[in-house]
Amino acid sequence: MRLLLVEDDALLNSRLRSDLERAGFAVDVAKNGVDAEFMGESEPYDVVILDLGLPNRSGLDVLRHWRAAGNSVPVLILTARDAWHEKVDGFKAGADDYLGKPFHVAELLARLQALLRRGVARPPGLLQAAGLELDEDTQTARLLTTGETFELTGTEFRLLRYFMRHPGQVLSKSRLAEHVYDFDAERDSNVLEVYINRLRRKFGRDLIATRRGQGYILGAGEG
Ligand code: CA
Repeated sequence: MRLLLVEDDALLNSRLRSDLERAGFAVDVAKNGVDAEFMGESEPYDVVILDLGLPNRSGLDVLRHWRAAGNSVPVLILTARDAWHEKVDGFKAGADDYLGKPFHVAELLARLQALLRRGVARPPGLLQAAGLELDEDTQTARLLTTGETFELTGTEFRLLRYFMRHPGQVLSKSRLAEHVYDFDAERDSNVLEVYINRLRRKFGRDLIATRRGQGYILGAGEG
């Protein structure tokens, strides 16, 4: 999952970034409102954490511009503690959730997972698709037929999670790369193929089918 973190506090920024990366997000950081607005318009993020007090352009203005342009990316706003009016303004501008500062990272991660779950309209609980169950907390996958559990590397986890959130859909290499890697990562499509083959070796060749010239599809063999 690609995540845009918009926060001008350098300390909070670097701490959050590493926590989010450990949780399996590909993270880009914007430190002011103008950069944030541009990045949100030009990159296909799956979720955004948006601080409201920003240099150059306020978080509320950034959010209003995105929504006016039809960008419906899930947005969690960071508000000052006890500033109820910020929450009201945030929701009016199109926010999906909020968290007051200071906050516990565990709560932030739980709220992000809930937001992402809402986006694909699935019931609470572990993500299941194509005979696999993914545990996003431990970053492991379980084969439903045998109950065998497999550890995943960071990239394997990010890739499998994206596939499992879009089962039965043809996903192009460029779309996969956009959602699995952050802005600075080298997006080499041959590397992507290596990771897809690793997932096939772990979970069976039929897990991910290749559609020549189009991309890859998870669980195509299933009804
Ligand atoms: Ca701030």
